[in-house]
Amino acid sequence: MKPSKRSWAEPYKMKMVELLQMTTRNQRLAAIKKAGFNTFLLESKDVYIDLLTDSGTSAMSDRQWAGLMLGDEAYAGSSNFYRLENAIQKFYGYKYIIPTHQGRGAENILSKILIKKGDIVPGNMYFTTTRLHQELAGGTFKDIIIDEAHDSLNEHPFKGNVDLNKLDALVKKYGAKKIPYISIATNVNMAGGQPISMGNLKELRAYTNQHGIRIIHDMTRVAENAYFIQQREKGYQKKTIAEIVKEICSLTDGATMSAKKDALVNIGGFMATNEWDVFEEARNMVVVYEGLHTYGGLAGRDMEAMAIGIEESLNDHHQRARVGQVEYLGHLMESYGIPIVKPIGGHGIFVDAKAFLPHLTQDEYPAQTLAAELYLESGVRTMERGIVSAGRKPNGENYYPNLELVRFTIPRRVYTQAHMDVIAESTASVFEKRKKIKGLKMIYEPKYLRFFQARFEKL
Ligand SMILES: *Cc1c(COP(=O)(O)O)cnc(C)c1O
Repeated sequence: MKPSKRSWAEPYKMKMVELLQMTTRNQRLAAIKKAGFNTFLLESKDVYIDLLTDSGTSAMSDRQWAGLMLGDEAYAGSSNFYRLENAIQKFYGYKYIIPTHQGRGAENILSKILIKKGDIVPGNMYFTTTRLHQELAGGTFKDIIIDEAHDSLNEHPFKGNVDLNKLDALVKKYGAKKIPYISIATNVNMAGGQPISMGNLKELRAYTNQHGIRIIHDMTRVAENAYFIQQREKGYQKKTIAEIVKEICSLTDGATMSAKKDALVNIGGFMATNEWDVFEEARNMVVVYEGLHTYGGLAGRDMEAMAIGIEESLNDHHQRARVGQVEYLGHLMESYGIPIVKPIGGHGIFVDAKAFLPHLTQDEYPAQTLAAELYLESGVRTMERGIVSAGRKPNGENYYPNLELVRFTIPRRVYTQAHMDVIAESTASVFEKRKKIKGLKMIYEPKYLRFFQARFEKL
């Protein structure tokens, strides 16, 4: 019989495996109670499939592991730095680069150089560390993403797009001089891993050129964004991910990168710029916060692994399998009737906990409850993105976010399709018994970023 489809498959095979801990329900019950029903407080040894984050959790390739052995641990002028600089110039096209220990190290330096007190920084949705560094430098973040991005049911193919009318209103109100740059994330994390289109970026470039405003690129997930452009945007079907990534970068003036995501390393990041003056100042400042400008808080071996990871991340077969696996899980969830955010994003599945547990009020923490139940069911660890994560306003009242989500983040090259089956099936089992699930009560609340350490009890 002729097959009706041609599936994707992983463009790699296994040569070493990490053994996982299998647990019983009773063991998991003891572990989640000990963790105060907060998946952040579980010990990783008690977790079977870990979907807490895709940050720093990728599997490195044999070439990357071999690269570690080529680490040139000289304090100054390590050969791995030049190799990394060369990879960034070749694949991304930026002129000058500064390595940093991870993404937020680059954000700190860049924000301090470009932002003055009272400045406005428009961006396509905030990211936690990015916005915080902009604020610490004296700036105010303004969201200019299209309205569709805030609606979990809207199926716009490019929910990461900028609304140019929102930007124009800010330029008219504050003046272009008050706007040091537009902060553009590719494959917007906080919108659920949603891309910006090349067309939108080109329009933005034309507009900012007119007004003399820079575009700074948060390129943490640029390869996933390029994949969606290749799949969805007219005129890009025949282009490679590498070509699309280079075109995206060419429309921007500089970048910050957390290499712990798309670039397939466990630690690392960098700042890049095309402006000599900005580079000169960054090269000065990195010595204060990270380390000398030829290592920026990284070992030589880390820079080697990053240089190799950058190239691997731009392979078309790699990205198809990466996003293909996320989409596979999403479609399975849908087939079980589980409510998820659409379109399916690049780095994970977001389950709508309000729709999953409609009998719970938001004060009974539906997403926190669901994440704990899933762990109990099968040892799968996910993360709450709802009222607990949203925290409190300066006046002490709770934020009540529209979205009450559980994030299933997929690490790159780590789990198999069979793991995806188990994840979807165990979520479906919890869905079957959803009516019997009781909510939670918070019994300990930390002052800052409470989702990391808060503790709960079953109602
Ligand atoms: C993870 C992330 C960062 C911060 O990077 P770290 O390496 O965690 O410091 C910045 N922006 C985005 C979009 C991210 O996902």
